[in-house]
Amino acid sequence: MRIILLGPPGAGKGTQAKKLAESLKIAHISTGDILRQNVKEGTTLGKEAKDFMERGLLVPDELMSKMLSDRFSQADIKKGFILDGYPRNFAQALTLEEIFKQRNLDVDMVVYLDSSDAVIIQRLSGRLVCSTCGANFHITNMPPKKNGICDKCSGSLFQRTDDKEETIKKRLEVYKNEVSSLIKYYQDKNKLYRLVADGDAGIVLNEIVALTKKLHDSLKV
Ligand code: ADP
Ligand code: ZN
Repeated sequence: MRIILLGPPGAGKGTQAKKLAESLKIAHISTGDILRQNVKEGTTLGKEAKDFMERGLLVPDELMSKMLSDRFSQADIKKGFILDGYPRNFAQALTLEEIFKQRNLDVDMVVYLDSSDAVIIQRLSGRLVCSTCGANFHITNMPPKKNGICDKCSGSLFQRTDDKEETIKKRLEVYKNEVSSLIKYYQDKNKLYRLVADGDAGIVLNEIVALTKKLHDSLKV
């Protein structure tokens, strides 16, 4: 199964993608996670991307193209993948299509997780991330069992520097400017499935799983 997740920051793409990748045994490709790893390691890419990320802006397309094409040259994508955080604008959708063409791949479904602004801001401003395994928690919606400690690996939890209210608003604005062209693009290809993702993470996950099953069955006949 090859899935693209679209949706605003805070729609729960990361949370859902991690769970789906585990249950479907496919690769999880999160461009945000790859970038943050590069920033942490101080790579050239990380140094170039850091400032854009902290301001809530998109990292330039050329940097992203190179990063994505490197990621798609790794063997694990053969078992299928869930792409979370890319494409984010129309040019990136075209780049992705090129990468797919070169590798004889096609996407099976594009799941558009939609959320209202109020929910997004509430989720992002309370989000906590594990510094070791990357798992997401939320101060009130999904609190860790022990304060500041990851349930899964006991790593310490932190708040992302771009999860400040002002940066959240900027990220939302950037997202809204770009998303309609992507929605149209995948709708025209008959690949787009929209889900309202304001509810509980478990409910949204069940809905996505139901969609993948339906699609899987229809591909078999
Ligand atoms: P969110 O979707 O919650 O904003 P991500 O973790 O997906 O968070 O991305 C964090 C930041 O990384 C973005 O604000 C942006 O600066 C950068 N980034 C991630 N993916 C892309 C992309 N496809 N193109 C450009 N920048 C990206
Ligand atoms: Zn952890």
